[in-house]
Amino acid sequence: MNIIFQLGAAIAVFAPSYSAEWDYKSSGPYTWGADYPKCTGQSQSPINIGTQEAEHDKDLPIINRRIFDSPPTKMKIQNNGHSLVVAIEEGAYSINDATLLPFEAEIAQFHFHWARNYQSGGSEHTIDGKRYFGELHAVHYNTKYGDVATAVDKSDGLAVFGWFIDVDYPQDNQDYELLFQLVKGGVTKKGDVSQINATFSLETLLPADLTRYYRYQGSLTTPGCYESVVWTVFEEPIRISESQASFLSGAIMDSASMPIQDNFRPVQALNGRKVTKALGPYSGGRSTASSVFLLVAMTFLSSFCQK
Ligand SMILES: [Zn+2]
Repeated sequence: MNIIFQLGAAIAVFAPSYSAEWDYKSSGPYTWGADYPKCTGQSQSPINIGTQEAEHDKDLPIINRRIFDSPPTKMKIQNNGHSLVVAIEEGAYSINDATLLPFEAEIAQFHFHWARNYQSGGSEHTIDGKRYFGELHAVHYNTKYGDVATAVDKSDGLAVFGWFIDVDYPQDNQDYELLFQLVKGGVTKKGDVSQINATFSLETLLPADLTRYYRYQGSLTTPGCYESVVWTVFEEPIRISESQASFLSGAIMDSASMPIQDNFRPVQALNGRKVTKALGPYSGGRSTASSVFLLVAMTFLSSFCQK
């Protein structure tokens, strides 16, 4: 009972127990609005990110990857029939940086979306129309609400960080081997749960460059589609091998014992929402350097002309 309650709280975002069945097939995204009216809202996710249309926000900070670097003391992996979810049970990290997020946020879980095979696209967000193989979502909740289940439908409830997953690695990405071995060991069927003794930090799963990212206000990408999420989507993708992608596409089963595939929602209309971007130190540095150069050149020229 206790375990069921805890799990329910951790994954309420994705599988509310009180509500209608949904999936990515016959009860797919185009039908969700019938049972979950919020799914027809005006600030839905995911979206296509237009890199040129996004407005540069100089106030967005350079993200220190050490934020993600503390391994939980207790975590578990679960197949909820829609995704592969790693729930953080104890020792969660929190983010308390007013320049990065408008509220203090604590990690609740992370999970994945992926395609039907390694050559297809299965990310939720797209970037200039490009759909990557998959996407990793790290779900944080506003600590003032106490837990993710309470925060999930509040307008300032959640902060989700998303990373694209690209199939672009000649060998297996070793950072993912522990997780995938644990999944092979017993999280392939719907409802399977595996307590993890050897915990690892989210940081180990992330790409090297976290400096360039996009920010907008949106929703959960699964029912009930609450418009409660401040989204941060990173430009640099995670890279895995073809065989690792094939594992995700083939080994994790849904309620009908078929592999979970294409578990992504189509992109939603922006409806006038603004997307902002952080460009990292190099772009900012370059433009500053060229301004300094111009200033020096103009000073030199003007002093020359006055003679
Ligand atoms: Zn997700």
